[in-house]
Amino acid sequence: MFKDSLKEQQPIVYQILLNSLKSSQLAHAYLFSGQRGSKMKETAILLAQTLVCPNREGFACEECDVCRRVKEGTYVDLIVINGKDRTIKKEEILDLQHQFIQTGLEMYSKKIYIIEHADRATPEALNSLLKFLEEPSGEDTTAILISENTDRLLPTIISRCQVLTFASLSAKLCESEAIANGVSPLHAYIASQFIKDVDIVLTLTQSESYQTAFDLFSGFIDEAKPNLYHGLVYLQKEGTLTKASKDKDKDSDEVKNKKKIPEKDPKELFSLFLDIAQVFFKDASQGKTVGDTWWNHHIASARYQSIAPAAMRVFSEGKDKIWRNVNLSLLLDQMIIELAKR
Ligand SMILES: [Zn+2]
Repeated sequence: MFKDSLKEQQPIVYQILLNSLKSSQLAHAYLFSGQRGSKMKETAILLAQTLVCPNREGFACEECDVCRRVKEGTYVDLIVINGKDRTIKKEEILDLQHQFIQTGLEMYSKKIYIIEHADRATPEALNSLLKFLEEPSGEDTTAILISENTDRLLPTIISRCQVLTFASLSAKLCESEAIANGVSPLHAYIASQFIKDVDIVLTLTQSESYQTAFDLFSGFIDEAKPNLYHGLVYLQKEGTLTKASKDKDKDSDEVKNKKKIPEKDPKELFSLFLDIAQVFFKDASQGKTVGDTWWNHHIASARYQSIAPAAMRVFSEGKDKIWRNVNLSLLLDQMIIELAKR
């Protein structure tokens, strides 16, 4: 049940809400602040269920008819507004309040608003909502604002709400969220190891830089197994790591049609290559496999496992050097020579 995963994934939020429930000191207005994927909407639904569930013990039972209807969106006294694709205007809020006062069709007189992407509502809309909550007529009304960009909300709005900050995702959660958003499992896994932000993982894994860096890395790994210098020759021949973007890329329709990211910076590409390499060799050092045949095949190689500790160190040092004024081609040579000694 969701309350169990909330307890596990967002223990602080879980405990704060549970304490308020036990002492019957729930706020009239909450602001859930956190990153995409941190389960704020699900938590808002759970809180809404908890406000009206006849079987609640601490949190809602999540199983009864009332809980089910809240989740499905057919509970009349719950209104969910999503500012994702449009701006929520003051008139809309006033209209809803008018309807709300008149209805109250459900057994409990509790009424609940959930406003997703609240930062995209006009300040007037949010102010009129929160002002309403402070009036006696709003006594049995709870508002839950959800925002991934709390800095865009006016301080006057924030100060009227109890703010619950949701923790950033762990690599594991970031990975599953990226997969749920269509990223292939291997790339969701790799990128989540060095970036624990779903939005950035989504943008990065679709970027030309990442795809190029991964192609170079996989080519390198395929070539370098019998002999690291073969891998080096491969990278030198490709040239993309150490030079500016290849001219042939510019004419390719495939590249043109892709979402454009800023001009390929060789340092950026090199850095990404090393990020991927570090994930690979960390896994190799632990013999850790993931759900990808190609990756697992190379992770299991005795050759790569034996150089893994050195590779992690050499690549990490290399990453530090990239941003200093070094010759990338020379840096690449040095790293491989250092590794080949092992
Ligand atoms: Zn229930």
